[in-house]
Amino acid sequence: MSEETYMGVPRKEIPWSPIVDYEKCNLCDGAPQCLKFCPHNVFGVEEDPPKLEVENPDHCVVFCRSCRKVCAPNALNFPNKPAVLKIIKEKRGY
Ligand code: SF4
Ligand code: SF4
Repeated sequence: MSEETYMGVPRKEIPWSPIVDYEKCNLCDGAPQCLKFCPHNVFGVEEDPPKLEVENPDHCVVFCRSCRKVCAPNALNFPNKPAVLKIIKEKRGY
């Protein structure tokens, strides 16, 4: 199987995925809306104590931020897009 790439750069080398603010995340009272919303299997829930995890950061679509819309407490943050673009360009060698 070929390695997944974005703009010619291996996906695993691109630091883009949701960052959970645990001060704000309340797990949507047990029904995590971000997990339900995202079709890419990025999120999971750790048991005991229950906690939202970004289990598969590489599954997140580069520069997508859509799940932020469904998070009422505004607990999802993302990296700085221009900084990540710069990393991608550096890896591409231009
Ligand atoms: S939608 Fe927001 S509050 Fe709900 S589980 Fe996800 S990050 Fe936490
Ligand atoms: S940003 Fe998009 S792809 Fe990434 S976890 Fe959220 S909805 Fe899924």
